[in-house]
Amino acid sequence: MGPSKSKGRRFPLLPLRGLLVYPSMVLHLDVGREKSVKALEKAMVEDNLILLCSQSEVNIEEPTQEDIFRIGTVANVRQMLKLPNGTIRVLVEGMERAEIIEYTDQEEYYEVIARELPEADNNDPEVSALMRTVLSQFENYINLSKKVTPETLAAVSDIDEPGRLADVITSHLSLKIKDKQEILETIDVRKRLEKLLDILNNEREVLELERKINQRVKKQMEKTQKEYYLREQMKAIQKELGDKEGRAGEVEELRSQLQEMELPEVVHEKIEKEIDRLEKMPASSAEGGVIRNYVDWLLALPWTYTTEDDLDINKAEQVLDEDHYGLEKPKERVLEYLAVQKLVKKMKGPILCLVGPPGVGKTSLARSIARSLERKFVRISLGGVRDEAEIRGHRRTYVGAMPGRIIQGMKTAGSLNPVFLLDEIDKMASDFRGDPSAALLEVLDPEQNNTFSDHFIEIPFDLSQVMFVTTANALHNIPRPLLDRMEVLYIPGYTELEKLQIATRYLLPKQKKEHGLQPEQLELDEEALLKVIREYTRESGVRNLEQQIAALCRKAAKSIVTNESESIAIHADDIKDYLGIPKFRYGMAELEDQVGTVTGLAWTEVGGETLTIEVTVVPGTGKLTLTGKLGDVMKESAQAAFSYTRSKATELGIDPDFHEKLDVHIHIPEGAIPKDGPSAGITIATALISSLTKRHVARDVAMTGEITLRGRVLPIGGLKEKSLAAHRAGYKKILLPKDNERDLRDIPDSVKNDVEFVPVSHMDQVLEHALVEQAGVH
Ligand code: ADP
Repeated sequence: MGPSKSKGRRFPLLPLRGLLVYPSMVLHLDVGREKSVKALEKAMVEDNLILLCSQSEVNIEEPTQEDIFRIGTVANVRQMLKLPNGTIRVLVEGMERAEIIEYTDQEEYYEVIARELPEADNNDPEVSALMRTVLSQFENYINLSKKVTPETLAAVSDIDEPGRLADVITSHLSLKIKDKQEILETIDVRKRLEKLLDILNNEREVLELERKINQRVKKQMEKTQKEYYLREQMKAIQKELGDKEGRAGEVEELRSQLQEMELPEVVHEKIEKEIDRLEKMPASSAEGGVIRNYVDWLLALPWTYTTEDDLDINKAEQVLDEDHYGLEKPKERVLEYLAVQKLVKKMKGPILCLVGPPGVGKTSLARSIARSLERKFVRISLGGVRDEAEIRGHRRTYVGAMPGRIIQGMKTAGSLNPVFLLDEIDKMASDFRGDPSAALLEVLDPEQNNTFSDHFIEIPFDLSQVMFVTTANALHNIPRPLLDRMEVLYIPGYTELEKLQIATRYLLPKQKKEHGLQPEQLELDEEALLKVIREYTRESGVRNLEQQIAALCRKAAKSIVTNESESIAIHADDIKDYLGIPKFRYGMAELEDQVGTVTGLAWTEVGGETLTIEVTVVPGTGKLTLTGKLGDVMKESAQAAFSYTRSKATELGIDPDFHEKLDVHIHIPEGAIPKDGPSAGITIATALISSLTKRHVARDVAMTGEITLRGRVLPIGGLKEKSLAAHRAGYKKILLPKDNERDLRDIPDSVKNDVEFVPVSHMDQVLEHALVEQAGVH
């Protein structure tokens, strides 16, 4: 122990709670316990000295000897102040360590005999080194703990007594009383410094750990707090904007909708992610709208739903017959197609392409296919589509982006395996915005279309179970690679008799039903229908016919309602009253034989048409002019006809120099562009020769054929359509190239009965049949 061997002296004892006083410390103490107050009073009346010893436990009100540490500090009581609450505040100054030897009184207050333990000087260099280490560790401690001010460090650095240094530093540390007591009890200064160093090291480690934990906790706190804060702010903004529910209701609804749906995993996950994003958007934000739109699309598409196919061929046949008159070939082919599907159990193989003029039932045939298979039906028109994005959609970053028409169609269909009609595939165009036909090729390609990618939808969509059917008016505008994928079924157009059948059996009953008429309420006899077909329509199909019949039904319905009559019968003579004056003249296009005017036949996108060609010659210098919309297309034919005429001039009784003295004007009135330009060759030549010779052309003759410079007649296309057109217009004789003779077997008998077909191989024969000696005499 300490060097002093003092025997000790008597001190009043003040037990301290949760507090420890080192020598050289000056501090205030509030004293309240009665015994303590008495001890203080005792000290004051004697030499102001009192022994301060800490209690081992804070909350013991009446400590016994065992509860009080044996070593404490003798202190000088400097001031005493009675506080209003009865406690006494004293200012004490620690003097020296002391050790209790024995208690002499415990009744009134604690009185002990204690021995003072004065500090020994210690100047050994090891102690100085220790002091320095302790100081620097203390500095670290201050930096870490922030509980001790840097000024304290300055004050502490000035202390040069090692023992005091240890005491003062310890007093600044937040340690347990037990640890502080240990420093107090370590009388040997070097040991005390070492112990303190230990404590400091330990504290530093703890502090560092604490700091790390704090940082982590703080970061987490900051994040959740930030989010919380932002969410609250968002709510406030939404509220401010008058949006009561915000996104919450919407998002919840979408989530529950999602839960109920059976979706491929990728789709499910994507939707979930998008809903999460949506949740964070303020209700009125534009981007929120975009996300919502996207989610709606994903939710609306039939990702997994398929309908069950009915592959009963007999039933299919029945359905097709129920819906359409005639069309034997296409129907037969459709049934074959279905039979193959039934065998291979897969919708692969060529895509049907229905080709024909408007109104011949291409669309409704496709619809029937769907009905017979019990599949859903959807139709999109490709007419005028010139942008790849119309097929494949726009990326979502685009303002107002939408999926392409294919995906839109699939949404409408609502199943993965509809019959999907791509209408007017020949009317697609391509320009700088990309080639829609390339995108379409992917749609139709069975190797790729199970993962069709739409720019908007992003997730690949399976089109492999779709049955695609396409329609076109003409083949020549369909891009080759597309055409290669398709199997073409021609629907050429109807004869008058066929139209009559279609009208009686299909169109009329259908229109009556649509107009709410009972079958017996409207009667339209055959003659009346024929009149409508002949004088109110001129077409290959039956679309206008259907419209006219619809008009009749409307008028009939009206007069039944207003006149309160039971039913109405319309005869041929009444048609005028219902549909107005006839739009077309039935019978011969020309009522009289004419000079220089000849009827040709053209094959156009909308079927066959008659085409009047007029030639006039006037004195001039041999100019050849072509006018009318078709001028350019016919130029070559006109040149050929002109050259032929020159070479035959003498034979035909024409002035051989006519090409120098006369101007020739060929006029071809407007009309649809023929698919086979040169087929007007013999028509132009006939008109020219008629005009030069002033011989009349038989009014009931129509003709078609290409001409060579030497007058040979070359074959043409579309004979059936052309014949139907000529028949429609009432011509009695058709001149056709001999090489087309075999096409005559396709011509319906009803036409053959009315019209004489004359195959010709040379221009001489044409003139023979077309020109008459005298007008009106045949
Ligand atoms: P397209 O698609 O070839 O232009 P649509 O399919 O629109 O022609 O046909 C026009 C109308 O004519 C439809 O109401 C259709 O039902 C009817 N139609 C056409 N051909 C027939 C037919 N052979 N039998 C019965 N109705 C027909």
